[in-house]
Amino acid sequence: MRRLWILGVLSLLAGCRLLIPQSELLALTPDGVRVVQFTSDISPVVPEQVPHSWRPGCPVPLEDLRLLSLTFWGFDDRAHQGELVVKAEYAEGIVAVMRTLYAEQFPIQRMELVDVFAGDDDASMAANNTSAFNCREVSRRPGVWSQHAFGTAIDINPVQNPYILRDGTVLPPQAVTDRATPVPGLISADGAVVRAFDEIGWGWGGNWTGVLDYQHFSASGR
Ligand SMILES: [Zn+2]
Repeated sequence: MRRLWILGVLSLLAGCRLLIPQSELLALTPDGVRVVQFTSDISPVVPEQVPHSWRPGCPVPLEDLRLLSLTFWGFDDRAHQGELVVKAEYAEGIVAVMRTLYAEQFPIQRMELVDVFAGDDDASMAANNTSAFNCREVSRRPGVWSQHAFGTAIDINPVQNPYILRDGTVLPPQAVTDRATPVPGLISADGAVVRAFDEIGWGWGGNWTGVLDYQHFSASGR
């Protein structure tokens, strides 16, 4: 363990973090349980990483975005490494939120860039993907930039936390609409997720009236 730790530090210093598999970066909980330690990385975004979610004319320049690599707790009760793109000024805050959610073992199904789904929000939601930046309009509101288009919003576990339009349309269509039964991954008003985002000043779409967006957190609260 000690040797791994030293190797980890040396490889970090050498700038070759991938030398040590993530699964070997272990920490102990107060109960003595060995778990993978939360790790994060913040790096600039290059066009090749966001071929579908960013294009010239988007309301945020590429240099104002950051790619985050983050450890998250999976539905399989194991640690995974995911990726999010957010506006640079919120990068540290989102890392802090994700560190808290990992410590709380709040389960997240998957966390891949929406480019994996060719920028298609409906496909990303259907796959229960947690994602942030996407240069797109508000779902079902053409001509209006979504907060996601600014890199200032994130959607978490869409299947457990749907977007419900005024007319009752549920997105994604196969989502869980029973909010009274606390299934894994469900965001509750008095739970760890809303609390963690509140600490960085981000508002929750589950608090809106009319439209309800249980998966959505944003810097503006919109
Ligand atoms: Zn959203």
